[in-house]
Amino acid sequence: MGLLRSIFKMTCPKCRKGKLFVQPFSLSKSFDMPERCPTCNQNYFPEPGFFYGAMFIGYGMTAWLFFAIGAILIFVMGMEFNKAMMIIIAVGALTFVYFFRLARSVWIHIYVKYDPQILSTSEE
Ligand SMILES: [Zn+2]
Repeated sequence: MGLLRSIFKMTCPKCRKGKLFVQPFSLSKSFDMPERCPTCNQNYFPEPGFFYGAMFIGYGMTAWLFFAIGAILIFVMGMEFNKAMMIIIAVGALTFVYFFRLARSVWIHIYVKYDPQILSTSEE
């Protein structure tokens, strides 16, 4: 699996097989991650506050997305500002979990390198 695919499928950065998030999209467990990869035992929380930086990635991604949506609604479709804001807030609420997870996925992929050997050598 390629890097981008692993990021968007939200799999373990090390083995690219285990999942980063356990629950599909249930609201109560939306932000829960297992402590370790169920497949290769990679620690998902290498240090306290590890995912602090992921917030900024999430913020950056959503800010650009909302800006783009707002620009299209207002300038291309001629929508009123207040109406456009309501749509953006609705989109934000619907995509919040997804971007939260995606940001964490991007973040951990930056720090943890892919190791194709991990699954074949873990028997030692
Ligand atoms: Zn793994």
